[in-house]
This record gives sequence, C-alpha cells and structure tokens, in this order.
Amino acid sequence: TVHSPSVVTFNEGSKKSNPLSTKNCVYSRIPYFGVVGNAHPSLLRSREEGTDSCQTFSPFNRGLAYIRVKDVAKRWRQYGVDSPRFRKRLHSKWESMNYDQVDSQLKRKNREGKQSKKKLAWEMLSSWLVYFSIGIGTAFLAAGVQIAVELIAHQKFELIKDFFDRCDKQGCLYQPVLIWMGINAGITLVGAALVTYVQPMAAGSGIPLIKSYLNGVRVPGLLSLRAFIAKCVGVVLSILGGLACGKEGPMAHSGGIMAAGLGKGRIPWFGKDINIYGLFRNDHNIRDLVAAGAASGVSAAFGAPIGGTLFSVEEAASFWNTELVWKVFFSAMIACFSTNFLLSAFEGHPTQLSNPGLVRFNTFPNLTFDLIEIPVFILIAAIGGLTGSLFVVMNYKLTVFRQKYLHRKKWIKVLEAGLVSVVSAVAAFFLMFTVKDCTEADPYNSHAITTKVIIMVTMLNNSSSNNHVDDDNDDNENGHDDEDDEEEEEEEEEEEEDGRMIKAMMMIRKLGCSGESHNSMSTMFLTTPEGCLKSLLHDPLETYSVASLILFVVIFFLLGVWTYGLSVSSGVFIPSLAIGAAWGRLIGLGVVQLFPDQAKDVGKYALIGAASQLGGILRTTISLTVIIVECTGDISFGLCIMISLMISKWVGDFFTTGLYDMNVEVSGIPLLSWEPPPLCDDIYVSDFMSQPVMTLLSVERVGHIYDCLSGESFNGFPVIEQDPSVFCPEGQLPRNQVSLKDFDNPYPVPQRLKIKDIELSEADKQCVMDLTPYMNLTPYTASLGFSMPRVFRLFRGLGLRHLVVVNDSMEPIGMVTRKDLAKYRAEIKKGMLHMEQLT
Ligand code: ATP
Repeated sequence: TVHSPSVVTFNEGSKKSNPLSTKNCVYSRIPYFGVVGNAHPSLLRSREEGTDSCQTFSPFNRGLAYIRVKDVAKRWRQYGVDSPRFRKRLHSKWESMNYDQVDSQLKRKNREGKQSKKKLAWEMLSSWLVYFSIGIGTAFLAAGVQIAVELIAHQKFELIKDFFDRCDKQGCLYQPVLIWMGINAGITLVGAALVTYVQPMAAGSGIPLIKSYLNGVRVPGLLSLRAFIAKCVGVVLSILGGLACGKEGPMAHSGGIMAAGLGKGRIPWFGKDINIYGLFRNDHNIRDLVAAGAASGVSAAFGAPIGGTLFSVEEAASFWNTELVWKVFFSAMIACFSTNFLLSAFEGHPTQLSNPGLVRFNTFPNLTFDLIEIPVFILIAAIGGLTGSLFVVMNYKLTVFRQKYLHRKKWIKVLEAGLVSVVSAVAAFFLMFTVKDCTEADPYNSHAITTKVIIMVTMLNNSSSNNHVDDDNDDNENGHDDEDDEEEEEEEEEEEEDGRMIKAMMMIRKLGCSGESHNSMSTMFLTTPEGCLKSLLHDPLETYSVASLILFVVIFFLLGVWTYGLSVSSGVFIPSLAIGAAWGRLIGLGVVQLFPDQAKDVGKYALIGAASQLGGILRTTISLTVIIVECTGDISFGLCIMISLMISKWVGDFFTTGLYDMNVEVSGIPLLSWEPPPLCDDIYVSDFMSQPVMTLLSVERVGHIYDCLSGESFNGFPVIEQDPSVFCPEGQLPRNQVSLKDFDNPYPVPQRLKIKDIELSEADKQCVMDLTPYMNLTPYTASLGFSMPRVFRLFRGLGLRHLVVVNDSMEPIGMVTRKDLAKYRAEIKKGMLHMEQLT
C-alpha cells in the first residue's frame, strides 16, 4: 500500500470552507490513532517548508509549535524511570490496551452483508465452546498441578527414606534433615531459575498483573506460553521446595493464560503460529476470556464456582455485563466439576466426586454461633485488619529493598529464593526439635498428617514391611497358589500396612514426646500449608499450646512476608489463612478460658481468624466471603465471615492499601480504580491534557509516520482531515489492499510487530499512505470544559486508550491517556486528605 506515489496537500480551509472538515477521524492500528479536526492554516506552512519534525498544534501558542520528535520523547522519558519514590511514580513502560472497539472503514466494510442468522448463531456457539474449553482446560491444569505435587513429593521422600530409617535408630537425624534441606533448596532454586530466566511475569501469584491487564494495561509476556510453563511448573516446585506459599493464586493466572491462548486460536510452534481459528482477535474479546480463565482458576483451586466468579468480578475484571458474568460463571462451574471428577478419578472413584477443589476446609461438625459472640468476631476482624496492614507494610519495604538492591542481577533473585527455602526448613526443624509441645489429643482426622508425612512415614516403615512382605512371598513359594487365598492375603497385607502406617505416623509425630503423646509443632510444620490450615481449623481444643501457636504465628508470618515477592511462582491465600487460623485459635483458647461454660470449640474462632487475616491482607470482601462459605459448605456462618471480612478491610484500609494494590503501585502500573480520586472535582481537562498534540494527516508521508512511531513513545495520533481532491490528481491515491483479516492477523500487535523491525528504503519513505480506511471514524472526544471525574468515568467505563481534547472548531488541542489520569492520587497526610500528582 505504500508504493503508489502521491502528492500530499491539504485544504487551507476552515470549518466553513471545507465541507469535510467537520468529520472526525481516528486512525487505528499502526498502532492506534486518536482524532482529528481540520488542518490549521499553519500546518500547511509546515508542510511547505518541508520540515521533518512531527506537526504539533496548540491553540495556546496561536500557531504552530514545532517540536522535534526526540525532544518530546526526552520530556516524557524522564517520568518515573529512575525515580526512587516507588509508590509515587508511574512507569512509562506500561502501555494501554484499546478496549474500545475501533470503528474504521475497514471494519464497516467487513460487517456489510455478513450479519446472517447462521453466522451469528455460529459465532455464539463457538464463543460458548471456548468458554467451555476454558473450564475443562483449567480443570486439567489444576488436577495436573495437584497430582504432580503428590507424585513428586512421593519421590522426594523415597529419596531420603533410608536415611530417616537408619538415623532414627542410630541417633543421627541431622543427616536426613540436612538432606531434606538440600533437596528443598535445590528444588526451589530450579523453580526460581525457571521464573527468573524464562518469564519473570510468572513470579508471585500473578493476580495483580491479571488485574492490571483486565483494567486495560498491556503487560508484555503476561499471557505468553513461557509464562504458562513457568507458572505451572514453578508453582509445583515452590510447594515441593517447602516455601510458605500456596498454589491457589497462581491458578488464577494460569487459567487466564490458558483462556487467552484458547481465545486466540493459535499455537506457537518454533517461532511460528499454527492458526486454528480466528474468532477472537482483539483486546476486547481476549479480555473477557481472561476474566473467565481467572475465575475458573480460583474455582478449581477452592472448589468454589460462585466465589471464583465473584473474585474475577471484584478483584480482577473492570468491565462487566450480565452476559459476560453468565459465561464466566459457566466456565467456573465446568472447571469446578471437572477438577472434582479428575481428582476423584485419580483416587480411583471417579463417580463419587469427593474432591471439589485443591483445598477444602472440610466440614465443621458444629458451626453455630451465639449473638453474644459477635463482639469477639469483631475483635478478631480488627486484629486481622491490623496484622494484614503490617504484612503489607513489611512486604512493601521488602519489595522496595529488593528492587533497589537485589533485583539488579538475576542470579541474586534465584539465590534469595534458595535462601528462603533453607531458612524455612531450618526454622521448622528448629521449632520441632526444641519446642516440646506434647499433647495426647487425637488429631481431627488423617488430614492432620498430610501427604508429606504419610509418604514419609510409609517410607520410614518400609524396611520392616519389606521384611514382612518377603516372608509372605516365601510362604507363597511354599505352595500357596490358590487365588482366593492370595486375595485374602493381599487384603490382610493392606490392613497390616495401614496399621503400620498409622503407628509410624504417630512415631514421627512424637519427635521427642513420650508415651501416647505427640509433638504438635510437627503437625504444623511437617505438612503442606493446606494441611496445616486444616489442622488448625479442626484439631481438638487442647492440641496446641499457647506458646507453640505464638511461635508458629510469628515464624510463619515472617516467612510469609519474605516469600511473597520472591522470584518464584507462589500464592498468598493459604499461608495467610494458616497464620490467621493460628492466632484465631489462640483467641479462641482465651475465650474458652474466660467462658468455659459457653465456649467449648475453638475451630470457629480459627476460621474467623483465617478469614480476617486474608481479608486484612487482600481487602477483598464479597468473593472471599463466598469462597470461604463454599469451602466450609455452611451458609449459616456466612454472616460472621462477612462481618469479619468487612471490618478487617475497613481497619486495614485505614493504614494501607491491600497487598495486590501495593504491588500494582510499586510496579508503577497506571491502574484506574472504579471511582475517580477524591478532591478532583475542580480539576479540568486543560489541567492534565498533553499539548501540543502530535498529529498526522489522513494521507501521510510514510517516512513521517515511521519517524513519529519510532522516535516517540506515543501510540495514538489525531488524524487531520484534508481534501485530497485539491492537490492530488484523482485516482493516484493507493487503493486499500489490506483486508480486515490481514489487519487483525498479527494480534497482539506489540509482541509481534515492532516498528523498528520494519526496514524502509528512502524511496519507501517518500511514498504516502492513506490512513482513512484504518482510522477510527467516530472517536470519543472531550471539550475543554470536561472535569476530571467526567473524563475518568469516560475512560474507565469505555476502556479508552486515548481521548482527544478538541476546541469549538473540532481542532485537536490536547491529548489524554490513562497515565494522565492515573497520576492523580489522594493521600492522607497528617490526618488530612491531599491530592498528589505522581511523576
Ligand atoms: P499508551 O502508552 O497508553 O499505549 P501512548 O503511548 O499513546 O499510550 P502514553 O504513553 O500514555 O501514550 O503517553 C504519555 C504522555 O504522552 C501522556 O501524557 C499523553 O497525554 C501524551 N501523548 C500521547 N499521545 C500524544 C500525542 N499524539 N500528542 C501529544 N501528546 C501525547
């Protein structure tokens, strides 16, 4: 399209003299364009003078301001790159998505005559199919992660079983402990290296970035195949490495990646793409699928389809309508059911559907409450808010420290993760061996001793059982070959094996305790965080002493703060719940002490503590209430959970933002919240728009476009309408040879096409390009009288990327992007609310 020579000229006319000048045009896609107006007379002069600087127009300097591309770029680049004030700056690397659908000539032409009922029905059906596959895919993923953790853990214990066995008798337990630590550190190092070197976007839970993406910020690499691999494999390794983290948060991110991949309908294959279908090829469509993927991930993780959907609504997605909520809920439900089916099938009873999610709180036998208990719940919630903000503040300080000193070199990030793993193991073993919290209370159930211990104990017991099995084999060889006998023997063997295992479990749990008693520290530390959470929620009243609960809270809290933000794939849900359950239990013990006649059970206090702690850290209310209610399967306690989450959020918000929002702020992401910032009613668009505006002509020299795009960070340019018939011989303008399919094909553009990758000869640069077919013909514009809240709502509600400010003659006089809005933030200083402008 750029080879046809043409003369670029334009009308000197004002609105009156030029009939075309009232038309607003926005070019979109190379990459995206803003608006329009008509050419100012002075622009004509600039073209005649043959300057190669981009044209700029400002009504305030009454004519034309020439600003070289590089000067403007320099001005903008100073923002935020090296600023040390982490939460006070926006990072210029983040670009926006265009959730507003572009209305170009090309799109209009494509729509004509293609609205047949059959096509519409097919489009609808295929969209439902994609949402269905998101649910199924996420379920496979969740089940895969769970099963991988179980199987590899088995191998891990197999590796050290002999040492444990031998050293238990010879008193050299330090040997297996050291080996255990070595294995943990090794696994964590591999997980951290995977995330750090393959795709750093896979670090952490990924929810803050998914939230930013759904808000309209482009996060390069977030939805890539590399991120998917690093996330899924990484989370398995983090858990096996013994870090204080869970796999639930990362499931939301992995679900989102899977959804985006399914939506794009192509598989990357050795640098090339295999195209399967091309239904969803714009930001708008992919955004909705990612919301469904995130919801399905949470649903599969907790077995909570409603909670997952609400989590996506509350925490992640920024744009909603009823149909989308329905589709997202559909995906979440499919994900929950399929995960249940797959995990039950893995356990050998697929039809019983007994595993609704990766983590369950298990049913509380007696989850009732008295109204007089509500003040205690409120107290717990307030503590949750306080400790939650402490967690956020400490993690913030640590994140800033990491960004300043540790994250300059990749290997330091990896090493830090390894160190945390070693420290976690040292802390656990130190507490288990030194704190003799011996109790005779029976653990609530086998869940108190999770897979890790079961496998370990099985291994521990293996040597004796091996001897036993050998004896049996000998018997068989001595002529017992009758089939019935064999079956009976097998059953007996299994029973004996179970008995030995339970005996051995108790042995391991003893760790220095005599008689029938066992060490409660080992119950808390020798399990995965999920197992530990269940123990704290359900174990009988006298299982844990006050001292061991306090020690657990302090150590696990510090480990949780240190672990979140490491360069590993990890989630914060489960550790937060476990910390809260521990101090909730502690408060429960106090209540039982004070009112021995009324209160006999500490489980519900542990549950409220867990909810409050998580609420105090994340500040999510609706979805967490529903997730916890779905996890416990008891709606009657929903009110108490809701109250505690609400209060922990209020208390927490008084001190800091939530953990995810803090992450967003530290990364300098220009996130637009639901509402405009307070105190901005008297700020007008003229105060925060950028000017002069860099514009393009509707038929523009290729070299000029190239210079504007490569020399500048801007992505949207108002296109100034001109009347080509004035100077250009008719018929010489290139006809449009680009179809919508070609146009949409390279989606997503920024990852695939970089302007600097396009090589243009001097002859090419002298050619002209007709931008008319691609530009947005009906862009949103604002006049100078628009106030900030109004512009904010326009941006937020419509998912805009650029807004052009025009004067009465429809001339572009200013440009507003999300960065112009996001830099206004209200902060409390000395008890007063102040409006702050970030750099
Ligand atoms: P995004 O990065 O969100 O994709 P963009 O690159 O076009 O959009 P920003 O990086 O947000 O723009 O722009 C930074 C600053 O440049 C903002 O203050 C914005 O108002 C200004 N700006 C953007 N486009 C233009 C333009 N065509 N002319 C003048 N200023 C502009």
